[in-house]
Amino acid sequence: MDTKFINEIERYGADGFKACFDCGTCTAVCNLSEPGHSFPRYFVRLAKTGQKDEILRSRELWLCYACGDCSENCPRNADPAELIAALRRYTIASYEPTGLTKLIFKNNPLYILITLVLAVIFAMVLLSFRPESGVSRWLFQYVDYQTIHYGGILLALLLILSIIYGFVRSIKNYAADGKAKFWETLKQTLVEIGVFKRYQSCDIYDDSYWYNKPWFVKPWFLHFSIFWGFVLLFVATGMDYLFKDPNVDVWWPTRILGTLGGLLLMYGSTLIVAYRLVKPTKIYQSTKMADWIFLAFIWLTGFTGFWLEVAIFAHNHSILTHVILFAHIICAAEMFLLFAFSKFAHALYRPIALYNYFKTKS
Ligand code: SF4
Ligand code: SF4
Repeated sequence: MDTKFINEIERYGADGFKACFDCGTCTAVCNLSEPGHSFPRYFVRLAKTGQKDEILRSRELWLCYACGDCSENCPRNADPAELIAALRRYTIASYEPTGLTKLIFKNNPLYILITLVLAVIFAMVLLSFRPESGVSRWLFQYVDYQTIHYGGILLALLLILSIIYGFVRSIKNYAADGKAKFWETLKQTLVEIGVFKRYQSCDIYDDSYWYNKPWFVKPWFLHFSIFWGFVLLFVATGMDYLFKDPNVDVWWPTRILGTLGGLLLMYGSTLIVAYRLVKPTKIYQSTKMADWIFLAFIWLTGFTGFWLEVAIFAHNHSILTHVILFAHIICAAEMFLLFAFSKFAHALYRPIALYNYFKTKS
């Protein structure tokens, strides 16, 4: 137990939870809470008593989809959903050994500068693997190729080591006993990741703001859209690297996949930005700097990607196209950085937590 933990977790963005008087309404309204996996009240108790080890070992933290039903119904305005978000930030920061994530989540403005400089370096490193391309020739007139290429590879290795460290710690911490078969559990996990079935079971009560809204504007679908946008873009980038895109035809299969991925990514991120601005429910009322940066880079990656599509279609090889391509690569590099150092890391920890959750259920 650590009585100072309350102050620490406040710096990660949770402040209302001290008002909790243990009524249990939040657990009652949460559709994902169940015996043996009871939250969010459980987390209020852990946070108040400062049980840090228990928090770091808790896979339930990643089972919540941040729908906000619990906060909407809390009679004390204790905002348990925000507490869960803060505990996740704390966990991501604790699993990341460089200390950069602590800066990010404690809203230190230095973080924008540091991650942006790193993203620019990584973008140049990526370009250094294709020195014959137009944008590389343009860029390496101004910066030293060798320094960027080898220095950047070293930085990337450090980053990858940091991701591996978090990955190994989470596997160790979230491991569960169970007799379930590996493939069956893996299948359940992949289905959940792919279709967000549990997330779809949130917001189903008739007093929910989303109850009568069409499926394509519901929060679960926006997350689904961003997830598949990333998957398709990842596949398209891999295919582009393997099969060498002729770089002229927008109907090339790799480009069609990329365009579809970009559309999904922009659709989901645009609506989430709109919700964070309009604040239709409590969960959208407080947006941290790290959340804005994360959303901004997702959106910019999509926007610059489409700009390049149009430029290719119009056979436009002007200096502006080179600059936009460079900006697009910086955004992609920032995404790579954010994977370890931001809420994006949930893409790593949630599948591990889900796998172990299904293992205990079978
Ligand atoms: S509903 Fe609010 S006051 Fe009641 S247990 Fe949950 S967080 Fe505490
Ligand atoms: S945010 Fe939604 S899923 Fe998460 S604990 Fe609250 S009600 Fe449950």
